[in-house]
Amino acid sequence: ITVLGIESTCDETAAAVIRDGRLISNVVASSMLEHARYGGVIPEIASRAHAESFVPVVSKALADANLDLSDVDAIAVSAGPGLAGCLAVGVSGAKSLAWAAKKPIYGINHVIGHIAVTQLQFGAFPEDTMALIVSGGHTSLLHVRDVARHVDVVGTTLDDAAGECFDKIARLLGFPYPGGPHIDKHARTGDPHAIRVPKGLTQGKSAAKHPYDFSFSGVKTAVARWIEGEEAAGHAIPVDDVCASLADSVADVLAEKAMAGCAQYGSDTLIVGGGFSANSQLREKLQQVGEREGVQVRIPRIALCTDNGAMVAMLGSNLLASGIAPSSADFPIDSAMPLTQIVMP
Ligand code: ATP
Ligand code: MG
Ligand code: FE
Repeated sequence: ITVLGIESTCDETAAAVIRDGRLISNVVASSMLEHARYGGVIPEIASRAHAESFVPVVSKALADANLDLSDVDAIAVSAGPGLAGCLAVGVSGAKSLAWAAKKPIYGINHVIGHIAVTQLQFGAFPEDTMALIVSGGHTSLLHVRDVARHVDVVGTTLDDAAGECFDKIARLLGFPYPGGPHIDKHARTGDPHAIRVPKGLTQGKSAAKHPYDFSFSGVKTAVARWIEGEEAAGHAIPVDDVCASLADSVADVLAEKAMAGCAQYGSDTLIVGGGFSANSQLREKLQQVGEREGVQVRIPRIALCTDNGAMVAMLGSNLLASGIAPSSADFPIDSAMPLTQIVMP
């Protein structure tokens, strides 16, 4: 089966084609640089960029795959969660293609796509798979019974996502948006024990009450206060040490909670997805604890971690192969699409 996947939830306009489980084209255009000087994604600018890039990106994905639209069996598009204006451009474009070419269309959940995409590199999901989603907007632990039909949310962040926390500290340190990769780079040469960074919900009563949940707002506040204190005292900020301490603490919490979830569900496979899973400290820590606990950790190559069309095409392929009914012609976008909803009816 051949599925065209289209992505436009945030600042990437992307399209990809998957044929019989193999990625045969993958095109990504980003408006990231246009947002850099504002310190974050400006929805209006991102939406305009999608309107400009939609046709060039989709036609390149088809051309690279040596296919016409008439050759695909279905179109999949991210229906949420994401920025409403951005979703509207991608979904309208995809619906028009589906209508013109008389193809079924699936309005899929972008975040579940971050999980599904790992199959391209590691093959099908084993039974009882756990999934750690770490993206710009999400930090959640899921139990994946069937990626086309049913996922359970085991834990989630009670406040900020890990990616958000990194991006905010990065701003304080003067790094351009998105700050995550800059923290990653500086952390490599810093001392991870230089600064004490709290590990939210890992100790005492709150940990007992929330064994699989996360909290990163305390981390953000503690690091911000520390930086402000040093600045007030006239000290130079040891940027590498701050980055290393932050990255180490966040990776630790994510890895320990993910392993606790695996133990609870008797799962020996952990899937990791979302833009933050590009983080090298997290990748290293997860492999380490995975070996310790006998859990196979599946983190895809970086290009599959950040937003792309392959993740959408892959989940679309799973839906089609499972005989799930396509979305209706008038399916809506949902900027807050819940993780338990895999596809729009
Ligand atoms: P969502 O998928 O929740 O809708 P999103 O699509 O905006 O959110 P992604 O593109 O999946 O988010 O991830 C972007 C996030 O990943 C940003 O917060 C960015 O800083 C972070 N990120 C990317 N690379 C790295 C890295 N090497 N280290 C840390 N963070 C990183
Ligand atoms: Mg992006
Ligand atoms: Fe994403």
